[in-house]
Amino acid sequence: MPHISVWILGDQLLAAHPALAAAEALTDRANIRVVLVESAQRLARLPYQRKKLVLLLSAMRHYAEELRKAGFTVEYVRAATAGEGLRRHVAAWQPERLLTMAAAEYGGRRFQQERLAGLLGVPVDLLPNTQFLSGRHDPYPQPDKRVILENFYRSLRRHWKLLIDDAGAPVGGAWNFDQENRKPLPKSGLAIPEPVRFTPDAITQAVMAEVAALPQGVGDSGGFDLAVTRADAETAFEDFIRHRLHAFGPYEDAMSRHSAVLFHSLLSPYMNIGLLDPLVMARRAEQAYRDGLAPIASVEGFVRQVVGWREYIYWQYWQQMPGLLAANSWQHTRSMPQFFWDGATEMNCLHHVVDRVIATGYSHHIERLMVICNFCLLAGIDPAAVNAWFLAFYVDAYEWVVAPNVIGMGLNADGGQIATKPYIASANYINKMSDYCAGCRFNPKQRTGKEACPYNFLYWNFLLEHEETLRANPRSGPAVLGLKHLSPAERSAVRDQATNFLASLPAYKDSKE
Ligand code: FAD
Ligand code: SF4
Repeated sequence: MPHISVWILGDQLLAAHPALAAAEALTDRANIRVVLVESAQRLARLPYQRKKLVLLLSAMRHYAEELRKAGFTVEYVRAATAGEGLRRHVAAWQPERLLTMAAAEYGGRRFQQERLAGLLGVPVDLLPNTQFLSGRHDPYPQPDKRVILENFYRSLRRHWKLLIDDAGAPVGGAWNFDQENRKPLPKSGLAIPEPVRFTPDAITQAVMAEVAALPQGVGDSGGFDLAVTRADAETAFEDFIRHRLHAFGPYEDAMSRHSAVLFHSLLSPYMNIGLLDPLVMARRAEQAYRDGLAPIASVEGFVRQVVGWREYIYWQYWQQMPGLLAANSWQHTRSMPQFFWDGATEMNCLHHVVDRVIATGYSHHIERLMVICNFCLLAGIDPAAVNAWFLAFYVDAYEWVVAPNVIGMGLNADGGQIATKPYIASANYINKMSDYCAGCRFNPKQRTGKEACPYNFLYWNFLLEHEETLRANPRSGPAVLGLKHLSPAERSAVRDQATNFLASLPAYKDSKE
């Protein structure tokens, strides 16, 4: 019987890995060696969030243990690079071929496709990636039509019969319940349940100590409390279904200094390394609706995120790579300010969000989009620098999801391929949706002057700078209509204050690293 190797990447910790199934079709389990590689080079590519490294390494080591318990022989290799680790493995085991699943990220997949077989001197079978629903069924078979999220999402829902009734219509009578969602939190009387947390076991504690000793990184490995096994990730998911899903929809866009997670799921860290499957999650959420645990507006809102946005973002990444990483359609070149590394800013919203991200690696979607990216777009910061910051700071960050969300959705630097208009807003939005402004030294209602919120004069400055471009786009055109109410004196006050404010921000010395 042939010797077969199966290389499983660190973000592919799937319950049913296609390369394992394919290997078992070729030979006996005794002739299969599973190999997982911790690549020092990959882990040091950026000064990553330490809690992300703990999650990834501990989950990989637990996964190796689970495979061993299931009867596989697993080689867990620590090496300078993935290629070096695999070469050592192949030299020792002498497989007839190596099976692996296509990486979710561009660079990794190019390596598998173009260099791996030559490097190892054995044939490589590259199996299609099954971590995404769009890898199991093409949701967009009409390449001549413009791809928008809504069509993409509906196509996936129809194909997988998610929230679709017997007549083929969307359950609840509509595809979208946004009208009922997107509320700020009430001032009082709403209990916000804490998400379940997990005590680190011996494997995780050992990883925490290793990561604490790394010379570079964001935050602290101490206090790590995420799930690192599939069973615990499933517990976290069930906790969300039972305690937070019911209010997910209405408060999806709300922000609070008292709670980072609010009614969000905090499940992206697990989905992105293969511990949770998007289809299983969407079906379970649908069941929760049928069981009366959550209203349709919340369940559809959650399914839209997991099956709509997440898949659309992955699809856009592959459409736009490799150019996406260098996209800069607003031609912005400013460096990231220092406060993104220490949270030291008087802007209360940014101060709270950045502090939290440093401490936990998490903030929810609207804080990523309307606090951080909104500021970076209005301030004219280089998209590549913002992309690198997100990649380094978040616990759920991988290139396939960061680049389209940051460069495309958040900064609108991809020429509007992901979002047809820039997501920009003045302090009015943050004030409406959060409690940050109440404790801020700036005034969200003032456009210029000593107390004026920087989001205000930066917003109006952006409109003045880009008036023609914005006016030419039917979706962003209405935003510039307000400019006609600004007198020449007000225009110049806006410009002066924006220029002086931006010049006063100390830049981080290594913001492009
Ligand atoms: P919930 O609000 O509970 O949503 C449920 C799930 O939907 C998420 O877990 C996620 O898997 C999926 N989802 C929702 N929106 C998106 C989206 N736009 N793209 C991809 N998946 C989505 N997501 C990441 O997984 N990693 C990132 O590094 C990341 N960076 C982002 C950067 C910016 C600027 C923006 C605007 C969004 C980013 N997102 C990222 C998407 C989204 O913000 C996070 O998935 C979400 O906040 C994770 O928290 P949650 O699990 O509590 O999500
Ligand atoms: Fe943020 Fe401006 Fe509100 Fe302060 S006033 S919290 S800076 S939006």
